[in-house]
Amino acid sequence: MRIVSFKHDGERRLGVRSGDLVIDLNRADPEIPADLKAFLSGGPGMVSRATRAVESGQAAISASDVQVLAPISDPDKIICIGLNYADHAVETKMEVPTEPVVFAKYATALIGPGDGIRIPPSSAKVDYEAELVAVIGKAGRDIAEADALGYVAGYTVGHDVSARDYQLEKPAGQWLLGKTFDTFAPIGPDFVTADEIPDPHALGVRCVLNGQTVQESCTDQLIFRIDRLISYLSHVFTFTPGDLLFTGTPPGVGMARTPPLWLKSGDTVVCEVDGIGRLENPVV
Ligand code: MG
Repeated sequence: MRIVSFKHDGERRLGVRSGDLVIDLNRADPEIPADLKAFLSGGPGMVSRATRAVESGQAAISASDVQVLAPISDPDKIICIGLNYADHAVETKMEVPTEPVVFAKYATALIGPGDGIRIPPSSAKVDYEAELVAVIGKAGRDIAEADALGYVAGYTVGHDVSARDYQLEKPAGQWLLGKTFDTFAPIGPDFVTADEIPDPHALGVRCVLNGQTVQESCTDQLIFRIDRLISYLSHVFTFTPGDLLFTGTPPGVGMARTPPLWLKSGDTVVCEVDGIGRLENPVV
């Protein structure tokens, strides 16, 4: 099932893509909430309700009439993994990590497809990073690796926009600040339920900047796989439905090029994950 958050008649709505249509779930079944975090918090029964809502054929809107938003606007946590592709770690001249490198973004950084990535006046080194994002579907802590994929409700595409001067050149390296400027976390367009993705570790990932492919890899290159990450992190904090896990970016980032390639106003960045979607944002 491909679920979208969208704006229609000025309201935030939740729908399921069905061919050229979007089924407005809350209008087809008022028991289904109109936002993804509440939908996921409702447990597996919500997916069954959504399936019935789609089958009812009610509340269908032409997909061309809706504005697709970020799939989720208010996750409790946005957790990001750094240096999770060995060849990306090498290109950044950092050590290949022996444990996950973890940082975070705030929800104020989230934007949807088509929204502008803003270059902040205080950074001259804004870089792109295409990533697979896992979306947590149920609460848990101290999760065994063997059970961890059962906590993933589905996936979306994410762009871990990064101000390298903040991340790497400020005293002590301000990873959090460099990664969480407003608009630095585009996600979407679709939230794809996990049952549609039989193997999340076999998906092509790429970034296309102004029509040129600048990153191209596969999630089979992840150093720490999603089940390992969830288990590792769950021994530190409790996961809750709607939490986003950015899984890391492959090589090809702008900072590793000669000369470096920084994002600038007027650029168009496309992040793609095969089977999940294509996320396009202008730079402003
Ligand atoms: Mg990243």
